[in-house]
Amino acid sequence: MSLRAISLPTITTASLHTTGLYRFMTVIYDLHCHSDQSDGILSPEALVSRAKSQNVEVLALTDHDTTNGLARAARQAEQENMRLIPGIEFSSQWGNMGVHIVGLNIDLKSSALLEAIDSQEKIRDERAIQIGQRLEAKGIKGALQGAKKQAGEGVICRPHFAHYMVEQGYVSSIEQAFKKYLGNGKAGDVKQFWPTFEQVIHWVSEASGCAVLAHPMKYKVTRTKLCAMVDAFKAAGGHAIEVVSGKQSQAHTNDLAKITNKYELLASCGSDFHRPGSEWQELGRHSQLPETVTPVWHDWG
Ligand SMILES: [Zn+2]
Ligand SMILES: [Zn+2]
Repeated sequence: MSLRAISLPTITTASLHTTGLYRFMTVIYDLHCHSDQSDGILSPEALVSRAKSQNVEVLALTDHDTTNGLARAARQAEQENMRLIPGIEFSSQWGNMGVHIVGLNIDLKSSALLEAIDSQEKIRDERAIQIGQRLEAKGIKGALQGAKKQAGEGVICRPHFAHYMVEQGYVSSIEQAFKKYLGNGKAGDVKQFWPTFEQVIHWVSEASGCAVLAHPMKYKVTRTKLCAMVDAFKAAGGHAIEVVSGKQSQAHTNDLAKITNKYELLASCGSDFHRPGSEWQELGRHSQLPETVTPVWHDWG
């Protein structure tokens, strides 16, 4: 079928989805993913190349609390003829919950951003020491040093502890490490240090960026609590919600679209890709926003 034929008005978006033609007619955005500068495993260059091979045209690299990979990713994106959006994923705290906020289109020279990264790095270092001590108390020898080695030059995240535990034979898988030691309520779950929504959104806004509430379904809260979270996020000056995060049900997507519109927020989408081999989080695979929302990129030009 020629391009002329598929632009005829008689062909609906729904039919394009079913014929698979939609991918060839829309720009594919993936605005949330990780490199080895935080807890992903691909280098920034390899990540961008993989995104290209998945037909992503606009990619945001959003490593946890660091912008270290962005210059390398931008150089690779230029070679691959893709658009790279400078991004970051900040950890924050809402009540007793850890909640992630993605900053998109941030100004890397912003002094507020540089202060934020410095402040988060200190918190991460302190947290890593505490996690290490707690794991030692549970019999995991050399946890902190092991996690540091796993992180290399990147920031230390909980998966680095998990990888160390798998490597040393304390657990059989990353999932088991989280289930037994690092997940919610477990010994290695240290989370009381993160800044508030207001603080994180202030940093992102000062850096001329767009603050996005990341992966809302991952928090596994009731709908009432989710709405309270979105309400607090909006009140703190937040801009958008990840209406699509990786592979999720259409019902969840539709509901998040409704909530996004109710609070007059913009909509974002991203895979939260960390490593190859996970169909649930493949780059660019789950990127189609419902037509009812206003995409976060509507005024990016
Ligand atoms: Zn996250
Ligand atoms: Zn993420």
